[in-house]
Amino acid sequence: MTSRTGAPRIDLHTHSTASDGTLTPVELVRAAGTAGLDVLAITDHDTTAGWAAAVGALPPGLRLIRGAELSCRWSGTEPAVPLHLLAYLFDPDHPELVAELARVRAAREDRGERIVALLRADGIDVSWPEILAGADGGTVGRPHIAQALIRAGLVDSTREAFGSDWLGERYRLPKDDIDVFQAVRLVRSAGGVPVFAHPRATRRGRVVPDELIAELAAAGLAGLEADHEDHSPAERAHVRALAADLGLLVTGSSDFHGTHKTVQLGAFTTGVEAYERIVAEGVTEVASG
Ligand code: AMP
Ligand code: FE
Ligand code: FE
Ligand code: ZN
Repeated sequence: MTSRTGAPRIDLHTHSTASDGTLTPVELVRAAGTAGLDVLAITDHDTTAGWAAAVGALPPGLRLIRGAELSCRWSGTEPAVPLHLLAYLFDPDHPELVAELARVRAAREDRGERIVALLRADGIDVSWPEILAGADGGTVGRPHIAQALIRAGLVDSTREAFGSDWLGERYRLPKDDIDVFQAVRLVRSAGGVPVFAHPRATRRGRVVPDELIAELAAAGLAGLEADHEDHSPAERAHVRALAADLGLLVTGSSDFHGTHKTVQLGAFTTGVEAYERIVAEGVTEVASG
């Protein structure tokens, strides 16, 4: 592919207000254009709700990969390990996938309400209706609860809200995620390309063993996200080596969330070979501005 200046800049993991980002899909694609990206993927948690608006607002020269980030779990150890699966270029009308995403979004609301009940039981004055309204119809997540803690003056930042005294541990509850093998199969059956997001991010919590990643590769996993701010340099190198062993493609991405995180669009990027493999394997066209 051609780029505007030198090597194409490809960022394959970003969030909008359709989940826990702070830019609307329209603002997100405009910001990607301003940042000089050539390719952007929109990957909101458990939803495709931002796709249409993003496609409609693409600035000239920007290509859009329509995707999502699926909330998954691996039940091979107790308690189950939560993990994230990026899914690119799948059919958004695939009935089973549509149903599973709707189920997970409902489970997120149930979990959010239970987290708020725990906080309130400890005398912390946060309101579930207000938090839900703050998500404005998008997939609700802990970053929305973090905003309520900030508004209440209990923490200063989202990062602090994810500390062990708050949403990171004390008030952390599991949600009813999709079994990761089922998710890989579902994404493939919907014509999509599954990539394991930040698979070695130990700073987020427990991670899965390499043997599990090998089993996922055999089940249809296409790639691993190596360059991500939550990976240390050693973790990035490990993921690259594992991907090479297993014949998986490797991506790098910002996981941009607007002001809910400090990372900027294009902070990490993906090589053109991985991009081309994803495009070749996906059923949905890449949209162009
Ligand atoms: P949830 O999807 O509700 O389990 O919340 C997880 C989301 O919280 C992730 O997708 C990130 O957007 C955000 N998150 C996780 N850890 C942190 C952190 N340390 N600082 C800021 N945001 C975080
Ligand atoms: Fe998020
Ligand atoms: Fe993620
Ligand atoms: Zn993400």
